[in-house]
Amino acid sequence: MNPNNKQAQELIKIAFLAGKEILKIYKKPFSKKLKKDKSPVTKADLAANRIICTGLKNIFPKIEIISEENDNSNLKKKDTYWLVDPLDGTKEFIKKNGEFTVNIALIKNKKPVYGLIYMPVTQEMYFTKNKSSYYSKINNKGQLLTKTKIKTKKRNKNVLVLSRSHISDKKKLSEMKDFMFKKFKANKIIQSGSSIKLCYIAHGKANIYPRIGTTMEWDIAAGDAILRNAGGTIKTLDGKIMKYGKRNYKNKSFIARS
Ligand SMILES: [Mg+2]
Repeated sequence: MNPNNKQAQELIKIAFLAGKEILKIYKKPFSKKLKKDKSPVTKADLAANRIICTGLKNIFPKIEIISEENDNSNLKKKDTYWLVDPLDGTKEFIKKNGEFTVNIALIKNKKPVYGLIYMPVTQEMYFTKNKSSYYSKINNKGQLLTKTKIKTKKRNKNVLVLSRSHISDKKKLSEMKDFMFKKFKANKIIQSGSSIKLCYIAHGKANIYPRIGTTMEWDIAAGDAILRNAGGTIKTLDGKIMKYGKRNYKNKSFIARS
């Protein structure tokens, strides 16, 4: 199952509305709490989650939703389900650097078959449709403005993308950069928060994003769908294509490439 035209429109609207609610909270003082896994959560994560889950249930009443902000523990594993991170980059949200996203993915037989990423601050959206990936600016009514098809780009000298919040120590970062330049034949590094990193590769602005350590499936599923449909891949360090529906929804280290 892939969303039809009307459903695709509605998915864009849902992500836009979730983003709008996130921005309302972003612009005022807000507090944060720590979840069981010590990751931060704010009112914005929960408000966006409500909008997305209600919206998905309305359009697709039969498809299960797995979300970072839901209790997913009693769900039976299905072949097809939504995988949602209502606010990816909560740390960036708290730091107010704008690099956070709304993420909606559809998983079928362990593969991400649809993905949508929305950046509320810049009103930019990435999404898949009919096995292609697209980028568009969004107007204030939540409509697409300039839809363009995107493709990954190969280069002789690679452009690397690295996380922002996970490497804050300046000395460590510079050591890491030297190592990465050699290892990946790169001559430039871009740092960014959240799933924007995967969009950079899908859009041909960067080539490689190595991520060492654990991530959650909902952090990368939408970006993975967008990247795959633009010509790229996410593979684990042993060279296997990333699969979804793993134990506790945890990903091992991976490398995303153009
Ligand atoms: Mg999140």
